[in-house]
Amino acid sequence: MAERQGRKESMKDLETLRHSAAHLMAHAVLELYPGTQVGIGPAVEHGYYYDFLRDDPFTPEDLAAIEEKMREIVRADVAIEKVAVSKEEAVKLFDQMGQKLKVELILEKAGEQVTCYRQGDFVDFCLGPHMASTGEIQHFKLLSVSGAYWKGDEKGSQLQRIYGTAFFSDSDLKDYLDLLEEAKKRDHRKLGQELDLFSFDEDLGGGLILWHPRGAVIRHEIESYWWEEHVKDGYEFLNTPHIAKLDVWRRSGHTEYYDAMYPPILSDGIEYEIKPMNCPFAMMIYNSRQRSYRELPLRWAEMGTVYRYERSRVLHGLMRVRGFTVDDAHIFCTAEQLEPEIRKVIDLALRIFETFGFTEYDIFLSTCPEKYCGSSEDWIRATDSLRNALEKAGLTFEVDEGEGVFYGPKIDIKFKDTLGRSWQCTTIQLDFNLAERFHLSYIGEDGQTHRPFLIHRAVLGSLERFFGILIEHYNGNFPLWLAPVQAVIIPIADRHTDYALSIHQRLRERGLRSDVDSRREKVGYKIRDAETNKIPLILIVGDKEMERKNASLRIHTEGDKGEIQTDDFLEKVQEFIENKTLKAIF
Ligand SMILES: [Zn+2]
Ligand SMILES: [Zn+2]
Repeated sequence: MAERQGRKESMKDLETLRHSAAHLMAHAVLELYPGTQVGIGPAVEHGYYYDFLRDDPFTPEDLAAIEEKMREIVRADVAIEKVAVSKEEAVKLFDQMGQKLKVELILEKAGEQVTCYRQGDFVDFCLGPHMASTGEIQHFKLLSVSGAYWKGDEKGSQLQRIYGTAFFSDSDLKDYLDLLEEAKKRDHRKLGQELDLFSFDEDLGGGLILWHPRGAVIRHEIESYWWEEHVKDGYEFLNTPHIAKLDVWRRSGHTEYYDAMYPPILSDGIEYEIKPMNCPFAMMIYNSRQRSYRELPLRWAEMGTVYRYERSRVLHGLMRVRGFTVDDAHIFCTAEQLEPEIRKVIDLALRIFETFGFTEYDIFLSTCPEKYCGSSEDWIRATDSLRNALEKAGLTFEVDEGEGVFYGPKIDIKFKDTLGRSWQCTTIQLDFNLAERFHLSYIGEDGQTHRPFLIHRAVLGSLERFFGILIEHYNGNFPLWLAPVQAVIIPIADRHTDYALSIHQRLRERGLRSDVDSRREKVGYKIRDAETNKIPLILIVGDKEMERKNASLRIHTEGDKGEIQTDDFLEKVQEFIENKTLKAIF
């Protein structure tokens, strides 16, 4: 616990540093480009930003100049001072400076006393805290500029948002910049195109994904594995429609509190809604007949495709889309079954992620917020079950006190990829609201009617997003079991093609995905082509190999492995695939 406390503390310090770097940046911008208006400048997950209102767009040269000016102010080691003024004075002050956006913020947010921070000529309306002087901000870098709206309102002024980052040491900054560089190389949008995995089409609409054969086969492998693991844990599977009468979403409450729904479709005078979630369908199946305690727990899983309206500016490759498939499940159980059921989901999630090579994660437990639905007794029971399940599994976790959603407590698991980046994927969420709205019930051992506990859970989260994470995690070098083409056979000359085809045939018979590259190109060219396509295994066959009934093996990213007996090869490959081995060693 002490260690975790320490981490939270140091994150706070880092936030202060980064927010101070945001002030420093705004200070530099105003010195270089007088007349620019400043918006807001918070610290964010990996750095900070500041929004500016200015007619001319900031160029990369401008960013370099701003950074240089920032260093100048750092060298001058200007004190950062807190000043308290009355609201009236503050409005006057910022009005005189021509900072209309700040005036608007002060009028909106400030009390009678306003805290401002001053460093030299630069003053900002802000609660703080900050570093003591600009000299303390040593290791920073400006990263990019993008568009933003004043107060996030698309009808509001269009601002320019400059992103930067700052750290306490030069080595931390360098590590982070290296990571960004590596992440750029692995960008799933770039690899997705290069490896022919998926695409988008303007004519189709933003955020809708076209899975190409090579992407679809990976998806199929993921889904099959997912299905097998769920069968092992006693899940059953559902299939539900993509649209439903608007009344269904009224009943579930989505029309009231969920704002990412597409507008309804009117058909025969009835309003239908494309589904943003799968939950109500599972409730309807549950309610299709009277349930008994003998049936519980019920574990119903579904690869359910949903559609949500996301603003076009937030769409991002596979990570943020408008149509995606959730590996959803709903668990209906009794109070006694809660803890073991939650434990089962945690184990399942960790097991599945380990297969894909994710072994590090952070776990968060979110507890009861101020406003909640359901009885406090149920909340306590559910929260204790979540906590006990984690503790009994021997897992460390952080508690986000009061951060639960209004309908129930939850566990979130964030997995770390090979670059150390965290991805929120698994969620285990109790829901007292939906259970109530759909009047879920079962007949207990006592012959009385009871309400079951309802758990929503997703392990991978969105299949599309998970695919994007995987592409970057593996840098496109998929392990054998996932690789779209697992092996390519390259005949050296035309007279070796039949032999190559015979190996290909044997691979196919064993369910392997192989190709023969019989193009009239040089062997070196074909090898390079296979490497570019990141095909894990390359078999080269010529006179020598034909005579000895073997092949020369080359492994992607590793190079030549020498001659290998075809039978041995087939056996090993099959074993690697069956075991979902992350790294094939011959
Ligand atoms: Zn501030
Ligand atoms: Zn659900």
